[in-house]
Amino acid sequence: MILSDRINTFGQDLLRRHGERVHKIALDAGFTCPNRDGTKGRGGCSFCNNVSFSPDADAHLDLAAQISKARRAIAKRTRARKFIAYFQAYTNTYDKVEALEALYREALNEPDMVGIAVGTRPDCVSSDVLDLLERFRDQGLEVWLELGLQSSFDETLERVNRGHTFAEYRETAKATRRRGIPLCTHLIIGLPGETEEHCHATLDKVLDIGVDGLKLHPLHIVKHTLLAHQWRLGEYLPLMRDEYICMAANLIERTPENIIYHRVTATASRDVLLAPVWCAEKWNVLNGIEFELRQRGTRQGCRAGTPYAKEKLRHAA
Ligand code: SF4
Repeated sequence: MILSDRINTFGQDLLRRHGERVHKIALDAGFTCPNRDGTKGRGGCSFCNNVSFSPDADAHLDLAAQISKARRAIAKRTRARKFIAYFQAYTNTYDKVEALEALYREALNEPDMVGIAVGTRPDCVSSDVLDLLERFRDQGLEVWLELGLQSSFDETLERVNRGHTFAEYRETAKATRRRGIPLCTHLIIGLPGETEEHCHATLDKVLDIGVDGLKLHPLHIVKHTLLAHQWRLGEYLPLMRDEYICMAANLIERTPENIIYHRVTATASRDVLLAPVWCAEKWNVLNGIEFELRQRGTRQGCRAGTPYAKEKLRHAA
């Protein structure tokens, strides 16, 4: 399977622009989150257990040690010799900008580091942070701001206790794009109370505001979360594998070709994943999405610009 024959993937985009493979190294810099410490909320998003989002990062190690451990692991799997420091766990802009700059520089000063990706919340990006990212970009570094939006529907954001609104996303996304800082937005498929129609409406709003990259993520249920409790009570039912594949393929078809897909599924380690079990097999899902698009004879962008029309899209049986 060659996913990049059908989807504009981040891996291929990096290969084209850097002339060789570039690998992201997920880091846990010991941040917390305003949605956990009481500033915005307590308990965090109903689905959040950060162990599941960045299983490779180890907060007990300093950044240099995390990077060196990741380099050894990557060397066994790929021949990548260039890296992007991915500040992934929790809210990676949640500190004074001086402290952020010191941390980001510490990672960027490691050998073969060609850039930085910073994952955060839409309500936690000050103009000082954007100034800093802009300076890195002006130095010729690969820079990405990754915003967790998940849904454009405020009712859904409230339901999963995100603690921010779509308007806050819009404002931050526009400010980021005005400065020419590449923006990658994270979306979740299968949120409580949402149908496929919600996902397409969210995609349309995000595209309308402007975005450079996207990540699609199936909502999975992991231990020690409110969602796990709701699932046990039968209040939430996760998507089936084929439903997810079909919905992801439909969204990809409606995404313009120039948008870079950084991810079209996500996984969680088996020790924290409760459901759906298919989420544990990332390659199986990636193969499924590629197979679905190949069977349809379609690819990313083939329906870009066309309104969402349920009857025209294929749905899982
Ligand atoms: S904003 Fe991110 S880190 Fe904070 S609780 Fe939600 S998912 Fe977790």
